[in-house]
Amino acid sequence: MNAGGTATTAAWLADELAAGRVTSVDVTQRHLDRIADVDDRVHAFLHVDAEGALEAAAASDERRAAGEPLSVLDGVPIAVKDVLTTKGMPTTCGSKILEGWVPPYDATVVRRLREAGLPILGKTNMDEFAMGSSTEHSAYGPTRNPWDLDRIPGGSGGGSAAAVAAYEAPFAIGTDTGGSIRQPGAVTGTVGVKPTYGGVSRYGLVALANSLDQAGPVTRTVLDAALLHEVIGGHDPLDSTSIDQPLPALVDAVRRGESGDLTGVRIGVVTELGGEGYQAGVLRRFQESVDLMVKAGAEVVEVSCPHFVHALATYYLILPAEASSNLARFDAMRYGLRVVPDGSPSAEEVMRATRDAGFGDEVKRRIILGTYALSSGYYDAYYGQAQKVRTLITRDFEAAFEQADVLVSPTAPTTAFRIGEKVDDPLAMYLNDLATIPANLSGVPGISVPNGLADEDGLPSGVQVLAPAMADDRVYRVGAALETLLTREWGGPLLDRATGLEGGAA
Ligand code: GLN
Repeated sequence: MNAGGTATTAAWLADELAAGRVTSVDVTQRHLDRIADVDDRVHAFLHVDAEGALEAAAASDERRAAGEPLSVLDGVPIAVKDVLTTKGMPTTCGSKILEGWVPPYDATVVRRLREAGLPILGKTNMDEFAMGSSTEHSAYGPTRNPWDLDRIPGGSGGGSAAAVAAYEAPFAIGTDTGGSIRQPGAVTGTVGVKPTYGGVSRYGLVALANSLDQAGPVTRTVLDAALLHEVIGGHDPLDSTSIDQPLPALVDAVRRGESGDLTGVRIGVVTELGGEGYQAGVLRRFQESVDLMVKAGAEVVEVSCPHFVHALATYYLILPAEASSNLARFDAMRYGLRVVPDGSPSAEEVMRATRDAGFGDEVKRRIILGTYALSSGYYDAYYGQAQKVRTLITRDFEAAFEQADVLVSPTAPTTAFRIGEKVDDPLAMYLNDLATIPANLSGVPGISVPNGLADEDGLPSGVQVLAPAMADDRVYRVGAALETLLTREWGGPLLDRATGLEGGAA
């Protein structure tokens, strides 16, 4: 793909900056130019902050020139999903109800990016309040997949994944409540990491479901993800669920994996995450990845997690329950939109009119589902029951991790589908997260690594690697090894083969 000089990894840019061969202002401007060239077609961004990004870039260049202390990624620009609050920059969560809202504070993740000197290019498109698997539920129109502009880039974080796949940003921040970092990674040929729950602060992450949400890296390489994860991760006293323990050494883990050697690593293939419902080409690529790992010395065991078949149903009770209570704060009084009906309406009437106009159909559907699941007569039958199944899923993980160091599966059951294909069929949409949801229910970390193109359609698929909580280093080690093994097979990065943006104005 001709990317106007932006087809470089964040790690490479960091080295170039350190060697004084480029400036952050140059690098940032090049990405802003790329955005200007292609984003009218991709629509990865909801807001581009050229001025703020260039200012941060100039400040980084000045610190470097003055010999001041710099972070590893100082001066490397980044994009941020529009669900994280950014002081002085709009934050809409892809919803009309927050149109024009400018938060008075930064999310901890955003503050850490700024403190580490990363210029923020802008905010990326997403399904409204992170509900969806295609970014078609954004109130501001869909994002398109750089592999084929008629197809979805995954969701809810399709904007971040498409920005990275289209070389509009070297990397980005996403959030993953049921798969929204990993599934967009799989269908755009990029790398996505959902950290251990509590490993990255949720302060300033507009909550979809507090017990499931986790912010993480969206990148083109496993090394870039580790570098970024080390910047954003670690304990935050502002988030009561943040784990007060040091992060494992993630970049070191990538270095260990980069040789491609997997001798002594026990890989568990999860029986329940494959087979029926998965596209044949996706399963073939997955099997090839497993074969490659075996050749590289891994020991492969088949593990069964019998309760995973209930994960989707469990998730779609717990998530709407938490979401319905979180979204109650959008009441026309505190933030964003306020619709005032004619006459002298009561506060309730203003709230009703605002929520009716401000929320999209999927959001309303989940509020209704969640309110029902939590209602007094049904709490035990639905929400209470779902929490019990959640415990059983966690026990399945514990048993599986006694037999294997990591678990693997296809990340998403299919490659990118066409825009419009599933948008009116909620169940078909929910099924995209079949393989990613168990990790959110149990809080364990996972990575999606691109593992080739499905034969049927020539579109990318991903392999998911899961590890026990706080063993994020394992997903990086195995992810890096897989990336090395696969890149050797391909003779170069997979994204070089994306042609969706060729022939246009770029
Ligand atoms: N697609 C899933 C959902 O709609 C996951 C969303 C997410 O991870 N934010 O809930």
